Amino acid sequence: MALDIKQGPRAKKSLGQNFLQDKNTANRIVDALKIEADDHVIEIGPGPGALTHLIHDRKPAWFTILEKDNHWAHEHKRQPPAGDPELQVVLTDALLFPWENLTSDKPWKVIGNLPYNVASPLMWDILSKATGLKRAVFMIQKEVGDRIVAAPSSKQYGALSVWLQSFCKPKREFIVPPGVFIPRPKVDSAVLSFVPIPVEERDFDPAALSWLLKVTFQQRRKQLQKILKGCIASGIDDALEKAGVVGTARPETLTTRQFQLLADALKSCPKK
Ligand code: SAM
Repeated sequence: MALDIKQGPRAKKSLGQNFLQDKNTANRIVDALKIEADDHVIEIGPGPGALTHLIHDRKPAWFTILEKDNHWAHEHKRQPPAGDPELQVVLTDALLFPWENLTSDKPWKVIGNLPYNVASPLMWDILSKATGLKRAVFMIQKEVGDRIVAAPSSKQYGALSVWLQSFCKPKREFIVPPGVFIPRPKVDSAVLSFVPIPVEERDFDPAALSWLLKVTFQQRRKQLQKILKGCIASGIDDALEKAGVVGTARPETLTTRQFQLLADALKSCPKK
């Protein structure tokens, strides 16, 4: 059973607190994580625990929750779910968590109904840094979910699409309407699952890709050659050719692979 939200403080907007009240939806979210007996599960932002007890019921080998709100972290410490696994409660900002420590020595799974104000940077970090991740499931604003699964040349396609699709295969599982939360958000939410691409198949430089995405999508209406001329001193034409990209193309038309190839090719070019 989740903790009683009526016994807690008012939901904090600054922490993106919209608490899920529908058990059927909560069960579907937890089902999407496909928990197995040897899994090491981390839940981000449990709040009163709509997902927490359902995760615990599925008996992973190890279960930790990361919560920034002192009240809810304390309440979970005071009233942990009975039985194994023992619930580890960490009062922290998930943005500061060392996700790179989730290495392949353990089967890691991460889940969360993410606070909308930090969802994108959190997913950006977790999915690129946690090399031992087996699967992740996040509930986020539907509009952010649309951006994550977007294809090239669509309005939603951007840095977040290219970045996350470079590290994993995202899939939209289902849509959740505002009426199942207290307080009620203004927009629909979406639940997405993420299956990481095996590390040995990732043949690109993340730092170079991150740099290129930031530079190009800040000026997504401009032609690539014009954007690059503003920050690269020489070698642009060769790099574009290596990546199989024409200079007059706009960033939003490039595939994920073309971005990775162009980022690698530009690495040796002197920056301005
Ligand atoms: N899991 C609960 C549910 O589904 O009802 C709560 C979800 S609510 C959308 C987001 C939760 O994340 C809140 O409990 C909030 O306190 C917590 N939170 C907000 N920012 C956080 C951060 N940076 N690190 C960890 N938890 C955070």
